Amino acid sequence: MTPSLASRQNLDFTLYEWLGVEALTTRPAYADHARETFNALLDLSEKLAQDKYLPLLKDTDRHEPWLDEAGQVHVLPALHAALHATTDAGLFASGFGPEHDGLAVPATVYWAAMGLLKAASVSAAGFMMLTVANARLIATFGTPAQIETFARPQIAGRWFGTMCLSEPQAGSSLADITTRAEPDGEDALGHRYRLRGNKMWISGGDQDISENIVHLVLAKVPGPDGRPIAGTRGISLFIVPKVLPTETAQGERNDIAVAGLNHKMGYRGIPNCLLNLGEGRHTPGGRSGAIGYRVGEVGQGLAQMFQMMNEARVGVGLGAAMLAIRGTQLSIAYATDRLQGRPLDAKGRTDQPPVPLIAHPDVKRMLLAQKAYAEGALSLVLYAGRLIDEERTAESPEARTQAGALLSLLTPVAKTWPSEWGCVANDLAIQIHGGYGYTRDFDVEQLYRDNRLNPIHEGTTGIQGIDLLGRKILRERAASLRQLQALVAATVDRAHQAGALEHQADEVQAAWDRITQVVATLLTLNDDARALAHATAFLSAFGHAVVAWLWLDQALLCADATTPFRAGKLAACRFFIETELPRVGLWLNQVATLSECATAMTPDMF
Ligand SMILES: Cc1cc2nc3c(=O)[nH]c(=O)nc-3n(C[C@H](O)[C@H](O)[C@H](O)COP(=O)(O)OP(=O)(O)OC[C@H]3O[C@@H](n4cnc5c(N)ncnc54)[C@H](O)[C@@H]3O)c2cc1C
Repeated sequence: MTPSLASRQNLDFTLYEWLGVEALTTRPAYADHARETFNALLDLSEKLAQDKYLPLLKDTDRHEPWLDEAGQVHVLPALHAALHATTDAGLFASGFGPEHDGLAVPATVYWAAMGLLKAASVSAAGFMMLTVANARLIATFGTPAQIETFARPQIAGRWFGTMCLSEPQAGSSLADITTRAEPDGEDALGHRYRLRGNKMWISGGDQDISENIVHLVLAKVPGPDGRPIAGTRGISLFIVPKVLPTETAQGERNDIAVAGLNHKMGYRGIPNCLLNLGEGRHTPGGRSGAIGYRVGEVGQGLAQMFQMMNEARVGVGLGAAMLAIRGTQLSIAYATDRLQGRPLDAKGRTDQPPVPLIAHPDVKRMLLAQKAYAEGALSLVLYAGRLIDEERTAESPEARTQAGALLSLLTPVAKTWPSEWGCVANDLAIQIHGGYGYTRDFDVEQLYRDNRLNPIHEGTTGIQGIDLLGRKILRERAASLRQLQALVAATVDRAHQAGALEHQADEVQAAWDRITQVVATLLTLNDDARALAHATAFLSAFGHAVVAWLWLDQALLCADATTPFRAGKLAACRFFIETELPRVGLWLNQVATLSECATAMTPDMF
């Protein structure tokens, strides 16, 4: 059996039948589109993924990017070809509006198309994700000259972009960054600064594919006393190009140098760099200091950067989901072809032929679990994509605001749930392949290694939990949570009215009732420090409850089970609600009792 990258039948069901993306074409922003143009984009991405991305998956893993003596990072020629084919096809521009020479493809469809590339090589697709989000940030907050100079070449795919937040000593806590930016006058591109500092873990921080690299860098400007302003209030955002594009400095190298490459467990197609800014390796304008152009106002850097971070967080969730989807496809094919053992009621009957792995109940369990995690994760990120479209184009301002609030609430979940459970799905894919799965001759071990990054970058799972419970629920006194709960209740009502999946609907409602109770307790407690000590357990429970709701909502469209595809959706919904949803209670118990089991530990007790 030849495995596909990702089932197009499932993608079509999710986009057209469940999320109703065709209805978006009635909105002015997407009026040039129809199902045919959406399908054409998906076909194009699928072909690129098959022809250009999949063949380089293993090579990019075996041959990591390398740094030459002159300080230039190189990647494999096949990666150049794949990325150039992607830009030539106009994919970088596809999600932008006509004012930026884009095709105005809805976010939901754009994410699905990008997902196909990620299924084939998540790290190669990382260049596009970063570049598109970087260009969108500049298009939102930059001056017209900055947009023209720095966003447009990225939208065209000639230049690539990065995000430079982390530093060796400051990862989760960006308030502690020490990169400094000293004012250096003004030119046609805005307020110019000289930056000095170190940026760690920068994906795509250098490469030899694109003509130039646009780094978006967080740094601190001096306060009135000449010292950097403490905390996140002191953070501003700067565009730091690798090669300067100004008239006076056309083609001059900026003072930003690769100090070294990080050698990763997976995700090796995209270089990961330690960058030194302003160490004097290059001397633009005759002196050291990396030239950067400020975006927006002083002190607004982190707030602006959140636009790119939020886009990247959904992008990380998408990558994690697609790795799980591909692992599931490989597992189905392997379990169909590989013969091993006899049915449970014919054990030891060597006179009978062996059966395929897929005939064994335990293998079916692992396949169904993978399906429930992988398709659940994909539906979550594409649902987030649909909220992006609502936030941008819904008819009334109220509907746009509501979609924005819901998207903000769900972003930590869309980032984390696929990352955590996508890894579990890939772990099961290895298990189904037995010993072969543990070798580098099969793709599943690499999928697992590639996916293992996702709970770490773009804010770890621990940080997402604090964001969800602290900022998005307790600080808002559960306002957008109530909005989400109304949507859950509507799905549960539909199940009752249709007389279908009522038992599952009751289980989903019960899980959400428990979340309501626990949040009410935490709000009354009014002690964020104690509550947030259990934020990850809360996020785990919340994520499972969200995905159970999404499974129920989709299963209601399949209640007649008229085809194996629909029967499979129903089975996955039942499996998730029967065997996974009960975990919600265990996680919430820890939160509700404010368990001190871990929090009371002192370092010497470990
Ligand atoms: C391959 C890769 C690519 C990356 N790409 C980029 C990039 O392009 N740009 C960029 O700017 N960064 C990038 N990063 C950095 C990434 O975002 C950070 O690694 C991540 O934010 C965690 O920071 P840290 O590694 O310093 O870990 P730390 O912040 O030291 O965290 C270590 C552990 O402690 C926990 N922890 C830390 N603080 C708290 C807290 N307050 N409460 C509870 N738990 C806490 C964390 O959850 C984590 O489990 C990348 C990282 C990797 C590995």
